[in-house]
Amino acid sequence: MAIERTFSIIKPDATERNLTGAINALIEKAGLRIVAQKRIRMTREQAGTFYAVHKARPFFGELVDFMISAPVVVQVLEGENAVLKHRDVMGATDPSKAADGTIRKLHAKSIGENSVHGSDAAETAAIEIAQFFSGNEIVG
Ligand code: ADP
Ligand code: MG
Repeated sequence: MAIERTFSIIKPDATERNLTGAINALIEKAGLRIVAQKRIRMTREQAGTFYAVHKARPFFGELVDFMISAPVVVQVLEGENAVLKHRDVMGATDPSKAADGTIRKLHAKSIGENSVHGSDAAETAAIEIAQFFSGNEIVG
């Protein structure tokens, strides 16, 4: 399995509760390397573009409002099978369905305020990484 990259966000509910380090520890323990990271405040436009795939869903407006409500930490993670490995350590979207030991089981507040984002495929990871990082900001 080749080295792969994925895109990660530590969401507002987690940055507000000062959980950046706790979540990064779980990411690193899972065997992923944080090769780029910055704390930003997303604009409404950035959040809308990022979650455009969910535009027709009833929770879209709430999701955009949430993503701009406090700072987020955007990251690029690298490792073998990084996309799936990260989805595994994140846990299910709904924290009540997330496996023990996962980030969402340990920290998420609800299905909406669920602490982390992770790309769902290598193709989407490349698009999401390019939305927030230029090549020289990623140091593997
Ligand atoms: P994931 O983040 O696990 O890939 P989705 O891509 O399905 O999940 O949804 C994107 C984000 O939208 C979720 O992480 C969550 O913040 C929000 N979301 C998903 N489903 C709901 C829902 N039923 N109600 C409120 N927010 C939701
Ligand atoms: Mg998703």
